[in-house]
Amino acid sequence: AYNFCAGPAALPEAVLQRAREEMLDYRGTGMSVMEMSHRDDVIVAMAEQAEKDLRDLMGISDDYAVLFLQGGASAQFAMVPMNLLGDAGRADYINTGQWSSKAIKEARRFGEINVAASSEDRNFTYAPAQSDWRLSDDAAYVHYCPNETIGGLEFDFVPEVDKPLVADMSSTILSRPLDVSRFGLIYAGAQKNIGPAGITVVIVRKDLLGRAGASVPAMMNYQTHAENGSMYNTPPTFAWYLAGLVFQWLKEQGGVDAMGEINRRKADKLYGFIDASGFYSNPVAPTQRSWMNVPFILSDSALDKAFLAEADAAGLRNLKGHRSVGGMRASIYNAVPETAVDALIDFMADFEKRNG
Ligand code: PLP
Repeated sequence: AYNFCAGPAALPEAVLQRAREEMLDYRGTGMSVMEMSHRDDVIVAMAEQAEKDLRDLMGISDDYAVLFLQGGASAQFAMVPMNLLGDAGRADYINTGQWSSKAIKEARRFGEINVAASSEDRNFTYAPAQSDWRLSDDAAYVHYCPNETIGGLEFDFVPEVDKPLVADMSSTILSRPLDVSRFGLIYAGAQKNIGPAGITVVIVRKDLLGRAGASVPAMMNYQTHAENGSMYNTPPTFAWYLAGLVFQWLKEQGGVDAMGEINRRKADKLYGFIDASGFYSNPVAPTQRSWMNVPFILSDSALDKAFLAEADAAGLRNLKGHRSVGGMRASIYNAVPETAVDALIDFMADFEKRNG
């Protein structure tokens, strides 16, 4: 079966095999990773290796701390303003869909949030050009979501701002090369391109640490985690371990350069097929379509149920669109092979022939 779930998403089969082999006896300890102390040298080494591999893959310099946290990307919607708003008490946000909207709503608990640009006027089907952004002079940071997982909208540019740029990269991290030095902070829930649910990666420029006020709880303060190697409290060791296996797998595939090539090909194929068909459609501006999340609708929504049932019978799982928008969505993250996209296109063509 091929799994097109938006998250928790498919993991590389080789990673799952390796985890199975090591499940009952990790590195000759006779124990599972799940049963070991996070202070155990073997686990500390595993955690450090995972961080090193992520740094290698993304080219993250020593100017940045890499944190492995809990609470998902949703906790970051709060932790970002709690840690970064500082004395300014104000930040700029770009609204391009449901995830940026949630980030804005949460940040408003902590300070004055200026929505500097929004694509709500056209149902979040494009990324507002930077020339149209109305940024504040005194914002502590600028937040955006480079890839909206639900709408399937992906920025085709990295914004140029003179404040720390903060990005929710949950559904695009590691999908292609990225210049991390352009960002003040990057966060991502793991359950798409990193590993299983339960761990969240935060990459934060070190000069942004230590700005949280005294009322910010220790667990919500980036500095706490930076000073303690993300082991201030018990971290989700098994999820961390699996993320580490995914990083090793990515290196074996040739890293983000190679993944970027494959991902571009996968996305081009699927959007190309959708555009050529009169039966399927995708509403997003062509240059800003997500490489990872491909939403599409059928010309007759009465056929949705049959489409999903027949796709499932053909081993094509989790193609139902997000409950808020309906239609279909194929998430084609790193672990979804090109053969899965080929199989999906074959199925879609056949379904169209029979029902179009
Ligand atoms: N941001 C984006 C872009 C997402 O896709 C998701 C989840 O799908 C979230 C935030 C929320 O992540 P979590 O469920 O880890 O809190």
